[in-house]
Amino acid sequence: MAELSRRDFLKLGGVAAGALAVGLPQRPARAAQADVRKVPTLCEMCTSRCGVFAVVENGRVTRIEGNPAHPVNLGRPCARGNAGASALYDPDRLKEPMKRGEDGKLYPITWEQAVEEIGAKLNEIRKRHGPEALVFAEYNNLNSTLTKRWTEAFGSPNHVGHAANCFANRNVGYSAVFGALPSVDYENVKFYLSPGRNLLGGIKVSEVAALAKAKANGARIVVLDPRHSELAGWGEWIPIKSAGDLAFLLAVANVLITEGIYNKAWVEAHCNGFEQLAEGIREYTPEWQEQHTDIPAEKVRQLAREMAAAAPATVVDPGWHGGNGMYWNGYEAARAGAIVNALLGNLGAKGGLKLSPKVALGTIDNPPEGAVLEAAGGG
Ligand code: SF4
Repeated sequence: MAELSRRDFLKLGGVAAGALAVGLPQRPARAAQADVRKVPTLCEMCTSRCGVFAVVENGRVTRIEGNPAHPVNLGRPCARGNAGASALYDPDRLKEPMKRGEDGKLYPITWEQAVEEIGAKLNEIRKRHGPEALVFAEYNNLNSTLTKRWTEAFGSPNHVGHAANCFANRNVGYSAVFGALPSVDYENVKFYLSPGRNLLGGIKVSEVAALAKAKANGARIVVLDPRHSELAGWGEWIPIKSAGDLAFLLAVANVLITEGIYNKAWVEAHCNGFEQLAEGIREYTPEWQEQHTDIPAEKVRQLAREMAAAAPATVVDPGWHGGNGMYWNGYEAARAGAIVNALLGNLGAKGGLKLSPKVALGTIDNPPEGAVLEAAGGG
C-alpha cells in the first residue's frame, strides 16, 4: 500500500471533516483489491459503433471509456454511449422471450417454448401464403448479417432494418451519381452546406471534432432546416419549408450551370450526361424554387456563387438522409445533392467528398484466403 505523507493525510482529513460538517454522504471506500479490467468492445447504443472499453470492476461493468485508437470517436463516447453501461443492468431490460397472455399482459416463457411456437407459426405462414409473406423487421445490429441470411434461407427477400427508416434514400441517391456513398473531409472544408443534417445533435463524434476545426479555420457553415438546430448556431441558418431541399438543390444546380460557374474541367473528365442535365435543369430556376422553399431567389443565387468560389473545398453534406430523406421526394433530393457536389468537382479534393477504399472481406461463403487464420490468431 502506498504511504501517505503528512501533507496528504492532513488534506484528506480536511476534506472528510468538511464533508461530515455539512452532512454530505460519504462515498464507500473501494475494496483495496478491486479487480479492474478494461475490455475493448464496440458501443451498441447506435449504428456508429464507436470503439470503447468496458470498465469491469469485480465482474460488473461500471462505465465505458472511449478507445482513442478508434477512428469514429477518437476516444470520446457521446452522452448516449455513456448511458450504455446503465442499460446493461436496467431492471426493465428484456433478457428472455415474452408472450402475451389472454389478459393482454406479457409473461416470460422459456426459449424452448418460444422457438417451438414461432417455428410452428412460420411453417404455417409459409404453407398458407408462401415465404414472401414474412417480413423480418429489426433494428440493425451486429447480428443483422445472420438475420438477413436467415430471412433469405426462409425464402423471403423482406428484411427491413435501420436503412428503410433512415439512410436508404441517401445511399441509393448518392450511389446513383457516384457509384458509391462518399463521406466528407470535414476538417478541410471551406463552405459547408447542410441540407437537413444536425451534425451536433445527430452524433458522430469524430465528424463534429473535424468540423469544429474547419470552423475555427474560418469555414462558412450554412444550415438548411425548418427548425433552428444546434448546428444552425454554428453558422447561417436558412429556414426552409419541409421537403423543400430538392427544389433548393435543383435551383443551385441551375445557377451553377446557367452562370457557367461549375467545375468544367472536372465535369468534362468524369461525368456522363451533362448535356441532358443542363437541358433538364433549365426550368428549375431560383424563382421557381421559392414556392417550395420560401427562400428568396436572390439568396439562392448568392449561395450558389459563394459555393462555386470556395470549390472544390465546398460540400453539400450527404448527412444521414441525403437532404430531406424521409419525404416522398427524398431519393431525388439525395441525387440532386450528389449532382451539386459533382458540379463543384469536389470528389477527392481536399475539403470535399471522398470515397473510402473497400476492404476485401469476401463473402460468408467465400472468405478471403487466410481470413479464418487471422481471426483465430488476432485475439
Ligand atoms: S455515437 Fe454515441 S451512441 Fe453511437 S456508437 Fe458512438 S458512443 Fe455509442
